[in-house]
Amino acid sequence: MVVSSVRPDAASNRKSLTILGSTGSVGKNTIDLIKRSQSNYQVEALTANSNVIALARQAIELKAKIAVVADPSKYQELKMALSGTKIEPAAGEQALIEAASRPTDWVMGAIVGAAGLAPTLQAVRRGATVALANKECLVSAGEIFTREVERHGATLLPVDSEHSAIFQVFEFDQADRVTKIILTASGGPFRQMDKSSMLSVTPSQAIAHPNWDMGAKISVDSATMMNKGLELIEAYHLFPIAEPQIEVLVHPQSVIHSMVEYVDGSVLAQMGTPDMRTPISFAMEWPNRMQTPSPRLSLADIGTLTFELPDCERFPALRLAREALITGRSAPTVLNAVNEVAVQKFIDGKIGFLDIATTIEEALNKIPPHSISSLEDVIEIDAESRAWAIQQS
Ligand code: NAD
Ligand code: MG
Repeated sequence: MVVSSVRPDAASNRKSLTILGSTGSVGKNTIDLIKRSQSNYQVEALTANSNVIALARQAIELKAKIAVVADPSKYQELKMALSGTKIEPAAGEQALIEAASRPTDWVMGAIVGAAGLAPTLQAVRRGATVALANKECLVSAGEIFTREVERHGATLLPVDSEHSAIFQVFEFDQADRVTKIILTASGGPFRQMDKSSMLSVTPSQAIAHPNWDMGAKISVDSATMMNKGLELIEAYHLFPIAEPQIEVLVHPQSVIHSMVEYVDGSVLAQMGTPDMRTPISFAMEWPNRMQTPSPRLSLADIGTLTFELPDCERFPALRLAREALITGRSAPTVLNAVNEVAVQKFIDGKIGFLDIATTIEEALNKIPPHSISSLEDVIEIDAESRAWAIQQS
């Protein structure tokens, strides 16, 4: 178990925080919550990949101390956008890691993809409280990441709505009384589509998620159901539970965000409307709860909640993720890296929707699993897998 079950005393002062990936969907939702009670928070660092204008606007509005853009060629542009303010501009991968090193009470890890691994791990290594949205970190480097959390006494709080749900109903002091975790999945935009029709779906169809408004990559992952596969691996690393005890259940209304079943037959669920501000707020003020503007749940209006088993024939990504978890070693690193490249190729119109899972399956068959003992091993296998995936037609 890496998520903390120890409830600290409520912090009384202004909370200092850093947002890694502040310009994305999770980043913006986090900022929305901060702005609603800005006097409670002191923003240290905000980071983005390349959107300098959005980053500078956020930094000025929140009076951040430093704004970091990952793309080094954007440094001058950022400097210009921040001129006349006291906000320090910085650029490049190393600057991102330095931003994560700055002492703060709380860090939001909301970068998308394995690109978030080094800075998020840096926050872990200074023993920070890290709210983790960036699930690819745990998929790509699960054992290394959780080992570092324990070694440095960091606190890891899940932000993914399913994992936040589990965290809220998981009785850590009776972990051996848990029989299974049930991860719910919306099924994505192609839940009812036959496989032959999936051959010709477009990126904009795949990105249009029925229930959640999210970044492009996770939206495509939801359409292939790789998102649930990544979440299966994420859950395995976050909670004291074995792989066969983690089940996936399709629940198109996205009202029940996940469930935990106990030996006595009780099943505890966390529910709410699909609004990321609820799980973000839970990680922001844990162990307390804060007011959010998330729409309230009206079960009477919804009327019916439905459930079905996932179809791994139409959505092979889910099966591939489970297989990678069972294989272990570098298989999840390969799965994640090849998925990131294949999703980008699909978004760029270079491959079809079904090619995403086919490419991953081929990679898992062709690239033999290696043991992983350090972050450097992860980085090397991640790079090799990306290079392999880029070369595929
Ligand atoms: P997004 O694409 O909207 O935003 C990603 C952020 O990461 C942006 O700030 C971007 O500038 C930054 N970024 C991208 N590439 C980078 C790089 N190479 N180096 C540094 N920064 C980089 O993504 P999102 O939807 O906010 O998702 C962020 C993470 O949270 C993902 O891991 C996703 O799976 C997870 N998550 C998102 C949601 C959601 O509702 N959006 C829900 C659950 C989990
Ligand atoms: Mg999720």
